[in-house]
Amino acid sequence: MTFRTTEKVDALIIGGGYYGCSIALHLKARDFGRIVLAEQSGRLMTRSSFVNQARVHGGYHYPRALDTAAASRRYFERFLHEHRDALTWNTQSIYAIAAGSKVSPRQFARVCAEIGAPLAAAPRAVERMFDPTLIDAVFLAEEYAFDAIAIARGLERRLDAAGLHPLFNATARIVGREGGRTVVEAGGNRYAARWVFNCTYAELDGLGVKVRSGLRRELAEIALIRPPAELDGYSVTVMDGPYFSSLPFPAMGAYSLTHVRFTPVVSWLSGEPAPAGLPIGFDRPMSAGAMVIDASRYMPAMSRSAILGSLFDVKAVMLARETDDGRPILFEESRDFPGVVSILGSKIDNVYDVLEALDKRVEQRPAYA
Ligand SMILES: Cc1cc2nc3c(=O)[nH]c(=O)nc-3n(C[C@H](O)[C@H](O)[C@H](O)COP(=O)(O)OP(=O)(O)OC[C@H]3O[C@@H](n4cnc5c(N)ncnc54)[C@H](O)[C@@H]3O)c2cc1C
Repeated sequence: MTFRTTEKVDALIIGGGYYGCSIALHLKARDFGRIVLAEQSGRLMTRSSFVNQARVHGGYHYPRALDTAAASRRYFERFLHEHRDALTWNTQSIYAIAAGSKVSPRQFARVCAEIGAPLAAAPRAVERMFDPTLIDAVFLAEEYAFDAIAIARGLERRLDAAGLHPLFNATARIVGREGGRTVVEAGGNRYAARWVFNCTYAELDGLGVKVRSGLRRELAEIALIRPPAELDGYSVTVMDGPYFSSLPFPAMGAYSLTHVRFTPVVSWLSGEPAPAGLPIGFDRPMSAGAMVIDASRYMPAMSRSAILGSLFDVKAVMLARETDDGRPILFEESRDFPGVVSILGSKIDNVYDVLEALDKRVEQRPAYA
């Protein structure tokens, strides 16, 4: 391919998921200069920002990682406020503690109290939905699900209003350094960028820069189901171990079903090749049936769920936090390519931590080049 000119830009953002779009808008609001957002597909938010459980984390999910639980709670209100039109407000969130759980009901309630997450004992009618021999306690919590399509539309509108027009079908690749800038090829163009923000999530180390932090990738299967009428309007999470969650999945008018044991299909570490031929996006179910069968042990009505299909995508997990289930951010600047920052937020609302880290880093060296 021949490139006529090399365009100088202040920030090149690679990846049009929730993170790449949010960073582009954040930098624009700070008058960062010339900003380009490059996305390899033809639309925004088609990968993990779409294929996920759609849970707006309220802190309940991390009773063994107090920092993550507290951060989730801190950002919960902000996320609800920012995306209020893209959330399901009419569901009741249930957290049940299994008899073999890694946390006891008392520990769970204590962590919720510590982080200020509302929690109440479930009424008898809700308790009766569960098998009492397998479940120790049932609580009502405050959590919501988001509609990824509605969020993507909102981001599109905001990017457009800010004069930021993403470059679609533009697979980016870092090709070298020139005059203190990083040279990137994307969509038939060549850019010399002061800053490059690598927001490619599952493909974080595929751009030509080394990512030092160890990552584990796993292909995840999210079953899409239609639960029976008596479970409609409930989001259910059984804690803390090899159990299941079922939440509304508003973007497809269905419910998701995930299971700690059956959702991971195959995994590989940084440096290892990804297995070939992985399904990505909506496809034929692999373990959805097994998920329904196991979930039905705890919640018998689940057995009457209809399986509609499954969504698949690659999940990226930082090795450093696998044992306590924490979900911090990765914000790593390359040693070989100064100004190239690889970013991984393990959940949607971690974006606020990323924006804070970004502001700090940019302030340290405002005129990088
Ligand atoms: C199974 C699963 C369940 C999850 N459940 C939840 C949940 O319930 N709640 C929650 O908050 N979080 C959840 N997460 C995490 C959440 O989905 C991610 O943290 C978030 O979506 C990451 O957003 P992103 O923008 O970094 O990545 P993505 O949305 O994956 O975006 C990366 C983009 O980069 C593009 N790209 C890749 N390579 C290139 C290239 N070379 N050039 C140009 N573009 C490129 C891709 O096409 C893609 O659009 C879940 C994740 C998974 C996988």
